Parts: sequence; C-alpha cells; structure tokens
Amino acid sequence: MIHILENVDRWKCEYKKCNAKCCTPGIPLTIADIKRIKALGYALDDFLESAEANQELRIKDKNGRCFFQGEKLECTIRENEPLVCRLLPFKITEVSYADEPIMRLKPVVDCPGKGSGKKSTGRK
Ligand code: SF4
Repeated sequence: MIHILENVDRWKCEYKKCNAKCCTPGIPLTIADIKRIKALGYALDDFLESAEANQELRIKDKNGRCFFQGEKLECTIRENEPLVCRLLPFKITEVSYADEPIMRLKPVVDCPGKGSGKKSTGRK
C-alpha cells in the first residue's frame, strides 16, 4: 500500500531549474533496478555500493552527485531509472510492514515542477 502524505495534482520535472536536486548520491536500488541497469552494459563495480549500516544497495557518488547524472544534469539512464527516481516528485519517508508493506511518500520540498505539466499521479 502506498500512502501519500500530500497530493500533487500536476507535476513536470524541471530539473534544470533546481539543479536536479533530487539526483543526490546514495539513491537506493532494488534488485530489479540493478538487473535493468546491468543489462545496459554497466559493471556492478561501476555504479553499485552497499551502505555498511543497513546493507542497503545504492548508487555510487560521482563528484558529489548521482553516478548516472550527465554533464547537462540529465539522467543518462532515463528509460531505465531506479524505482525511487520513478516515484518523483515524491520521496519515500517510511516503509513499514504489516499484512502488506506500507510505503509513505511526501512531495519533494520546493520542487519547481509542482503544479505545472499534465495532470498526473506520478512520473510515468
Ligand atoms: S538515476 Fe537518474 S534520475 Fe535517478 S538520481 Fe540518478 S541521475 Fe537522477
């Protein structure tokens, strides 16, 4: 179950206006994300790291930004981006486990794309 803490009626990614602030290092990856990215030809050592504290698998840092961010701030794996990136403009605030997993999301603060673009419930 996905519980969204605030509704975002319209949204369009305006990453050039905010310097792509969502594309920070350490984006968590699912196993499906890793398989999809590996199929693009990347070696695991290129982009993958494991957080020591919780063994979370995540994207490596490259010059203080996400490994996959291009020189013009674009996502270089746009059609294969990780699940967390597909949830934008929402960020996961909490995941809890009851009879089924409950994921709580809230919108990214000060997102310049909020309120513009097509009526949407998500990025894709
Ligand atoms: S994978 Fe793409 S969308 Fe996700 S943080 Fe990295 S550059 Fe941004």
